Amino acid sequence: MNIYGLTFAQLEQYLLQIGEKISKAPIIFTNLYRKQISSLLDIPEIRQSLKEQLMQDFSLALPRLIQQTNGTDTIKFLFALQDENLIEAVLMRQRYGNTLCISSQVGCNMACAFCQSGRFKKVRNLLPHEMTAQIMAIQRQLQIKISNIVLMGIGEPFDNYENVMKFLEIIQHPRGLALGPRHLTVSTCGLVPQIIQYATHPNHGMLAISLHAPDDETRSRIMPINRRYPVAQVLEAARDFIQHTNRKVMLEYVMLQEQNDFPWQAQLLADLLKDDDFHVNLIPYNTTQNLGFQQSEQTRIATFYNILKQNHIVVTMRREFGSSVNAACGQLRADYEMQQ
Ligand code: SAH
Repeated sequence: MNIYGLTFAQLEQYLLQIGEKISKAPIIFTNLYRKQISSLLDIPEIRQSLKEQLMQDFSLALPRLIQQTNGTDTIKFLFALQDENLIEAVLMRQRYGNTLCISSQVGCNMACAFCQSGRFKKVRNLLPHEMTAQIMAIQRQLQIKISNIVLMGIGEPFDNYENVMKFLEIIQHPRGLALGPRHLTVSTCGLVPQIIQYATHPNHGMLAISLHAPDDETRSRIMPINRRYPVAQVLEAARDFIQHTNRKVMLEYVMLQEQNDFPWQAQLLADLLKDDDFHVNLIPYNTTQNLGFQQSEQTRIATFYNILKQNHIVVTMRREFGSSVNAACGQLRADYEMQQ
Protein backbone atom coordinates (compact mmCIF):
# COMPACT_ATOMS: atom_id res chain seq x y z
CA MET A 1 0.00 0.00 0.00
CA ASN A 2 1.15 3.53 -0.73
CA ILE A 3 1.65 5.52 2.46
CA TYR A 4 0.40 8.80 0.93
CA GLY A 5 -3.07 7.28 0.81
CA LEU A 6 -3.30 6.77 4.54
CA THR A 7 -5.31 9.12 6.72
CA PHE A 8 -3.90 9.96 10.13
CA ALA A 9 -6.62 7.83 11.74
CA GLN A 10 -5.76 4.87 9.51
CA LEU A 11 -2.10 5.22 10.40
CA GLU A 12 -3.04 5.08 14.08
CA GLN A 13 -5.17 2.00 13.39
CA TYR A 14 -2.28 0.33 11.64
CA LEU A 15 0.09 1.07 14.51
CA LEU A 16 -2.35 -0.44 17.00
CA GLN A 17 -2.69 -3.53 14.84
CA ILE A 18 1.03 -4.17 14.83
CA GLY A 19 1.22 -3.60 18.58
CA GLU A 20 2.81 -0.13 18.42
CA LYS A 21 1.91 3.02 20.27
CA ILE A 22 -0.31 5.46 18.39
CA SER A 23 2.01 8.21 19.57
CA LYS A 24 4.23 7.23 16.64
CA ALA A 25 1.60 8.48 14.19
CA PRO A 26 2.37 12.20 14.54
CA ILE A 27 6.09 11.46 14.23
CA ILE A 28 5.58 9.54 11.02
CA PHE A 29 3.17 12.10 9.55
CA THR A 30 5.51 14.99 10.33
CA ASN A 31 8.44 13.22 8.71
CA LEU A 32 6.43 12.33 5.64
CA TYR A 33 4.81 15.67 5.01
CA ARG A 34 6.92 18.34 6.75
CA LYS A 35 10.37 16.90 6.32
CA GLN A 36 9.39 15.20 3.07
CA ILE A 37 11.54 12.16 3.66
CA SER A 38 12.06 9.94 0.67
CA SER A 39 12.75 6.77 2.67
CA LEU A 40 11.09 5.43 5.78
CA LEU A 41 14.59 4.72 7.06
CA ASP A 42 15.02 8.49 7.41
CA ILE A 43 12.73 8.84 10.43
CA PRO A 44 15.24 9.39 13.26
CA GLU A 45 12.73 9.19 16.10
CA ILE A 46 11.64 5.57 15.62
CA ARG A 47 13.56 2.37 16.17
CA GLN A 48 14.99 0.22 13.43
CA SER A 49 12.51 -2.65 13.74
CA LEU A 50 9.55 -0.33 13.22
CA LYS A 51 11.26 1.28 10.23
CA GLU A 52 11.69 -2.13 8.72
CA GLN A 53 8.12 -3.11 9.37
CA LEU A 54 6.91 0.13 7.76
CA MET A 55 9.18 -0.49 4.79
CA GLN A 56 7.63 -3.90 4.36
CA ASP A 57 4.06 -2.64 4.51
CA PHE A 58 4.24 0.67 2.66
CA SER A 59 5.63 2.25 -0.45
CA LEU A 60 6.53 5.93 -0.80
CA ALA A 61 6.43 5.81 -4.59
CA LEU A 62 5.50 9.04 -6.36
CA PRO A 63 4.22 9.31 -9.92
CA ARG A 64 6.97 9.63 -12.53
CA LEU A 65 7.42 13.15 -13.84
CA ILE A 66 7.72 12.85 -17.59
CA GLN A 67 7.42 16.41 -18.74
CA GLN A 68 7.71 19.84 -17.13
CA THR A 69 7.01 22.98 -19.11
CA ASN A 70 7.63 26.43 -17.69
CA GLY A 71 5.38 29.31 -18.73
CA THR A 72 5.41 32.87 -17.46
CA ASP A 73 3.35 32.31 -14.34
CA THR A 74 2.52 28.64 -14.59
CA ILE A 75 4.40 25.39 -14.74
CA LYS A 76 2.73 22.33 -16.12
CA PHE A 77 3.61 18.81 -15.14
CA LEU A 78 2.79 15.59 -16.88
CA PHE A 79 2.98 12.48 -14.73
CA ALA A 80 2.87 8.78 -15.52
CA LEU A 81 1.14 6.70 -12.86
CA GLN A 82 2.31 3.25 -11.90
CA ASP A 83 0.04 1.70 -14.55
CA GLU A 84 1.41 4.19 -17.13
CA ASN A 85 -1.78 6.23 -17.29
CA LEU A 86 -1.05 9.93 -17.75
CA ILE A 87 -2.30 12.78 -15.59
CA GLU A 88 -1.42 16.43 -15.40
CA ALA A 89 -1.04 19.08 -12.74
CA VAL A 90 -0.51 22.80 -13.13
CA LEU A 91 1.27 25.07 -10.68
CA MET A 92 0.23 28.71 -10.58
CA ARG A 93 2.63 31.01 -8.81
CA GLN A 94 0.76 33.93 -7.31
CA ARG A 95 1.51 36.78 -5.01
CA TYR A 96 -0.30 35.05 -2.17
CA GLY A 97 1.28 31.64 -2.61
CA ASN A 98 1.56 28.63 -4.82
CA THR A 99 -1.66 27.12 -6.07
CA LEU A 100 -1.59 23.63 -7.49
CA CYS A 101 -4.29 22.42 -9.81
CA ILE A 102 -4.50 18.65 -9.66
CA SER A 103 -6.28 15.87 -11.50
CA SER A 104 -8.83 13.59 -9.85
CA GLN A 105 -9.40 10.98 -12.57
CA VAL A 106 -7.71 9.48 -15.59
CA GLY A 107 -9.96 10.92 -18.30
CA CYS A 108 -13.44 12.23 -17.61
CA ASN A 109 -16.96 11.09 -18.43
CA MET A 110 -18.71 14.45 -18.30
CA ALA A 111 -18.12 15.20 -22.00
CA CYS A 112 -18.37 19.00 -21.85
CA ALA A 113 -18.31 20.07 -25.49
CA PHE A 114 -15.55 22.69 -25.16
CA CYS A 115 -13.19 20.68 -22.93
CA GLN A 116 -10.30 18.49 -24.04
CA SER A 117 -10.58 16.23 -21.02
CA GLY A 118 -14.01 15.08 -22.05
CA ARG A 119 -12.55 13.56 -25.19
CA PHE A 120 -10.68 10.98 -23.16
CA LYS A 121 -13.29 8.80 -21.57
CA LYS A 122 -12.70 7.99 -17.95
CA VAL A 123 -10.26 5.14 -17.56
CA ARG A 124 -10.32 5.06 -13.78
CA ASN A 125 -10.55 7.09 -10.63
CA LEU A 126 -7.40 8.32 -8.94
CA LEU A 127 -6.78 6.85 -5.52
CA PRO A 128 -6.14 9.20 -2.58
CA HIS A 129 -2.40 8.58 -2.69
CA GLU A 130 -2.25 9.49 -6.39
CA MET A 131 -3.72 12.89 -5.55
CA THR A 132 -1.53 13.49 -2.49
CA ALA A 133 1.49 12.36 -4.48
CA GLN A 134 0.97 15.10 -7.09
CA ILE A 135 1.55 17.64 -4.30
CA MET A 136 4.49 15.78 -2.81
CA ALA A 137 6.21 15.24 -6.16
CA ILE A 138 6.00 18.92 -7.11
CA GLN A 139 7.03 20.24 -3.69
CA ARG A 140 10.05 17.97 -3.88
CA GLN A 141 10.88 18.76 -7.50
CA LEU A 142 10.80 22.54 -7.03
CA GLN A 143 11.65 22.74 -3.32
CA ILE A 144 8.58 24.87 -2.61
CA LYS A 145 5.59 24.79 -0.33
CA ILE A 146 2.22 24.57 -1.98
CA SER A 147 -0.37 26.63 -0.15
CA ASN A 148 -3.57 26.14 -2.15
CA ILE A 149 -5.05 23.15 -3.92
CA VAL A 150 -7.73 23.30 -6.58
CA LEU A 151 -9.25 20.15 -8.02
CA MET A 152 -9.55 21.59 -11.50
CA GLY A 153 -7.29 19.31 -13.47
CA ILE A 154 -8.48 16.31 -15.42
CA GLY A 155 -11.58 14.61 -14.10
CA GLU A 156 -14.78 15.29 -12.24
CA PRO A 157 -13.89 15.16 -8.53
CA PHE A 158 -17.44 14.40 -7.44
CA ASP A 159 -17.51 11.40 -9.77
CA ASN A 160 -14.73 10.14 -7.47
CA TYR A 161 -16.30 11.38 -4.25
CA GLU A 162 -15.00 8.94 -1.61
CA ASN A 163 -11.39 9.07 -2.76
CA VAL A 164 -11.46 12.85 -3.04
CA MET A 165 -12.86 13.25 0.47
CA LYS A 166 -10.22 10.94 1.86
CA PHE A 167 -7.55 12.92 0.04
CA LEU A 168 -8.89 16.14 1.60
CA GLU A 169 -8.71 14.53 5.03
CA ILE A 170 -5.08 13.51 4.50
CA ILE A 171 -3.85 16.90 3.35
CA GLN A 172 -5.70 18.85 6.04
CA HIS A 173 -4.21 17.01 8.98
CA PRO A 174 -2.32 19.46 11.22
CA ARG A 175 0.63 17.08 11.61
CA GLY A 176 0.92 16.68 7.86
CA LEU A 177 0.53 19.20 5.06
CA ALA A 178 -1.90 21.12 7.29
CA LEU A 179 -3.70 22.78 4.41
CA GLY A 180 -6.71 24.67 5.76
CA PRO A 181 -10.19 24.15 4.26
CA ARG A 182 -10.21 27.66 2.86
CA HIS A 183 -7.16 26.75 0.81
CA LEU A 184 -8.79 23.73 -0.81
CA THR A 185 -11.30 24.04 -3.63
CA VAL A 186 -13.25 21.27 -5.26
CA SER A 187 -14.60 22.21 -8.67
CA THR A 188 -17.58 20.32 -10.04
CA CYS A 189 -19.61 20.44 -13.22
CA GLY A 190 -22.66 20.27 -10.96
CA LEU A 191 -23.31 16.79 -9.54
CA VAL A 192 -26.16 17.80 -7.25
CA PRO A 193 -26.31 14.86 -4.80
CA GLN A 194 -22.58 15.12 -4.11
CA ILE A 195 -22.74 18.91 -3.65
CA ILE A 196 -25.34 18.32 -0.97
CA GLN A 197 -23.26 15.60 0.70
CA TYR A 198 -20.13 17.76 0.52
CA ALA A 199 -21.85 20.60 2.37
CA THR A 200 -22.07 18.58 5.57
CA HIS A 201 -18.94 16.48 5.20
CA PRO A 202 -16.44 17.10 8.03
CA ASN A 203 -13.53 17.44 5.60
CA HIS A 204 -15.01 19.73 3.01
CA GLY A 205 -13.14 22.71 1.63
CA MET A 206 -14.42 25.41 -0.68
CA LEU A 207 -16.75 24.77 -3.58
CA ALA A 208 -16.53 25.93 -7.18
CA ILE A 209 -19.14 25.08 -9.77
CA SER A 210 -18.57 25.18 -13.50
CA LEU A 211 -21.78 26.90 -14.47
CA HIS A 212 -20.87 28.29 -17.89
CA ALA A 213 -24.46 29.21 -18.79
CA PRO A 214 -27.52 30.50 -16.93
CA ASP A 215 -30.14 28.94 -19.22
CA ASP A 216 -30.81 25.24 -19.60
CA GLU A 217 -30.84 25.32 -23.37
CA THR A 218 -27.28 26.63 -23.66
CA ARG A 219 -25.99 24.70 -20.69
CA SER A 220 -27.37 21.39 -21.92
CA ARG A 221 -25.79 22.03 -25.28
CA ILE A 222 -22.30 22.62 -23.91
CA MET A 223 -22.54 20.46 -20.77
CA PRO A 224 -24.51 17.21 -21.13
CA ILE A 225 -24.68 16.80 -17.34
CA ASN A 226 -27.20 19.65 -17.34
CA ARG A 227 -29.84 17.31 -18.74
CA ARG A 228 -29.61 15.40 -15.50
CA TYR A 229 -29.10 18.32 -13.13
CA PRO A 230 -30.46 21.54 -14.62
CA VAL A 231 -29.37 25.05 -13.62
CA ALA A 232 -32.08 25.59 -11.00
CA GLN A 233 -31.16 22.40 -9.16
CA VAL A 234 -27.45 23.17 -9.28
CA LEU A 235 -27.99 26.64 -7.84
CA GLU A 236 -30.29 25.29 -5.17
CA ALA A 237 -27.60 22.82 -4.10
CA ALA A 238 -25.06 25.66 -4.12
CA ARG A 239 -27.32 27.71 -1.84
CA ASP A 240 -27.59 24.72 0.43
CA PHE A 241 -23.78 24.65 0.64
CA ILE A 242 -23.62 28.38 1.41
CA GLN A 243 -26.18 27.99 4.15
CA HIS A 244 -24.51 25.02 5.79
CA THR A 245 -20.96 26.29 5.61
CA ASN A 246 -21.23 30.06 5.56
CA ARG A 247 -18.79 30.04 2.70
CA LYS A 248 -19.24 31.63 -0.65
CA VAL A 249 -19.47 29.50 -3.77
CA MET A 250 -17.44 30.33 -6.82
CA LEU A 251 -19.16 29.99 -10.17
CA GLU A 252 -16.80 29.47 -13.06
CA TYR A 253 -17.91 30.84 -16.35
CA VAL A 254 -15.80 30.17 -19.44
CA MET A 255 -16.52 32.84 -22.03
CA LEU A 256 -17.38 31.17 -25.35
CA GLN A 257 -17.97 33.44 -28.29
CA GLU A 258 -21.67 33.65 -29.22
CA GLN A 259 -22.56 30.69 -27.06
CA ASN A 260 -22.87 31.92 -23.51
CA ASP A 261 -21.64 35.52 -23.75
CA PHE A 262 -24.81 37.40 -24.79
CA PRO A 263 -25.98 40.34 -22.67
CA TRP A 264 -29.31 38.63 -22.00
CA GLN A 265 -27.39 35.75 -20.45
CA ALA A 266 -25.49 38.13 -18.18
CA GLN A 267 -28.80 39.64 -17.08
CA LEU A 268 -30.38 36.24 -16.50
CA LEU A 269 -27.33 35.13 -14.51
CA ALA A 270 -27.52 38.26 -12.36
CA ASP A 271 -31.22 37.66 -11.71
CA LEU A 272 -30.57 34.06 -10.70
CA LEU A 273 -27.78 34.93 -8.29
CA LYS A 274 -29.32 37.94 -6.58
CA ASP A 275 -28.95 38.16 -2.81
CA ASP A 276 -26.67 35.17 -2.37
CA ASP A 277 -23.03 34.71 -1.58
CA PHE A 278 -21.82 33.80 -5.05
CA HIS A 279 -18.64 34.89 -6.74
CA VAL A 280 -18.61 34.71 -10.52
CA ASN A 281 -15.24 34.14 -12.16
CA LEU A 282 -15.21 34.89 -15.87
CA ILE A 283 -12.58 32.82 -17.60
CA PRO A 284 -11.29 33.50 -21.11
CA TYR A 285 -11.61 30.31 -23.11
CA ASN A 286 -8.26 28.75 -23.80
CA THR A 287 -8.94 27.90 -27.41
CA THR A 288 -8.68 24.19 -28.04
CA GLN A 289 -8.26 22.97 -31.52
CA ASN A 290 -11.02 21.07 -33.30
CA LEU A 291 -13.69 21.56 -30.69
CA GLY A 292 -15.39 24.40 -32.57
CA PHE A 293 -15.42 27.02 -29.82
CA GLN A 294 -13.78 30.44 -29.80
CA GLN A 295 -12.71 32.74 -27.03
CA SER A 296 -15.20 35.61 -26.60
CA GLU A 297 -14.02 38.96 -27.89
CA GLN A 298 -12.79 41.36 -25.22
CA THR A 299 -15.67 43.76 -25.79
CA ARG A 300 -18.21 40.99 -25.27
CA ILE A 301 -16.49 39.94 -22.05
CA ALA A 302 -16.43 43.56 -20.88
CA THR A 303 -20.15 44.01 -21.55
CA PHE A 304 -20.98 40.78 -19.76
CA TYR A 305 -18.84 41.81 -16.81
CA ASN A 306 -20.41 45.24 -16.60
CA ILE A 307 -23.95 43.87 -16.56
CA LEU A 308 -23.07 41.63 -13.64
CA LYS A 309 -21.36 44.52 -11.83
CA GLN A 310 -24.31 46.84 -12.36
CA ASN A 311 -26.47 44.19 -10.77
CA HIS A 312 -24.17 44.05 -7.74
CA ILE A 313 -22.89 40.56 -8.43
CA VAL A 314 -19.36 39.86 -7.18
CA VAL A 315 -17.46 39.17 -10.36
CA THR A 316 -13.80 38.82 -11.31
CA MET A 317 -12.01 38.15 -14.55
CA ARG A 318 -9.38 35.48 -14.43
CA ARG A 319 -6.20 36.32 -16.18
CA GLU A 320 -5.57 33.87 -18.92
CA PHE A 321 -3.56 31.64 -16.66
CA GLY A 322 -1.64 28.98 -18.40
CA SER A 323 -2.50 29.74 -21.98
CA SER A 324 1.19 30.04 -22.82
CA VAL A 325 1.66 26.46 -21.73
CA ASN A 326 -1.70 25.09 -22.86
CA ALA A 327 -2.54 24.44 -19.28
CA ALA A 328 -6.30 24.43 -19.60
CA CYS A 329 -7.97 21.29 -18.47
CA GLY A 330 -6.83 18.31 -20.49
CA GLN A 331 -4.79 20.28 -22.99
CA LEU A 332 -1.46 19.15 -21.70
CA ARG A 333 -2.14 15.48 -21.97
CA ALA A 334 -3.82 15.97 -25.34
CA ASP A 335 -0.76 17.81 -26.70
CA TYR A 336 1.55 15.15 -25.39
CA GLU A 337 -0.42 12.34 -26.97
CA MET A 338 -0.54 14.19 -30.30
CA GLN A 339 3.25 14.24 -30.34
CA GLN A 340 3.56 10.52 -29.71
N1 SAH B 1 -14.79 18.60 -13.73
C1 SAH B 1 -14.59 19.73 -12.88
C2 SAH B 1 -13.16 20.18 -12.74
C3 SAH B 1 -12.22 20.11 -13.93
S1 SAH B 1 -12.26 21.34 -15.22
C4 SAH B 1 -15.43 20.90 -13.35
O1 SAH B 1 -16.09 20.77 -14.37
O2 SAH B 1 -15.48 21.90 -12.67
C5 SAH B 1 -11.74 22.85 -14.55
C6 SAH B 1 -12.38 24.05 -15.26
O3 SAH B 1 -11.74 24.33 -16.53
C7 SAH B 1 -13.85 23.84 -15.57
O4 SAH B 1 -14.57 24.99 -15.22
C8 SAH B 1 -13.83 23.64 -17.07
O5 SAH B 1 -15.07 23.93 -17.62
C9 SAH B 1 -12.72 24.59 -17.49
N2 SAH B 1 -12.18 24.41 -18.83
C10 SAH B 1 -12.12 23.28 -19.55
N3 SAH B 1 -11.54 23.51 -20.75
C11 SAH B 1 -11.20 24.82 -20.76
C12 SAH B 1 -10.55 25.66 -21.72
N4 SAH B 1 -10.13 25.18 -22.87
N5 SAH B 1 -10.36 26.96 -21.39
C13 SAH B 1 -10.75 27.44 -20.19
N6 SAH B 1 -11.35 26.69 -19.25
C14 SAH B 1 -11.58 25.40 -19.53
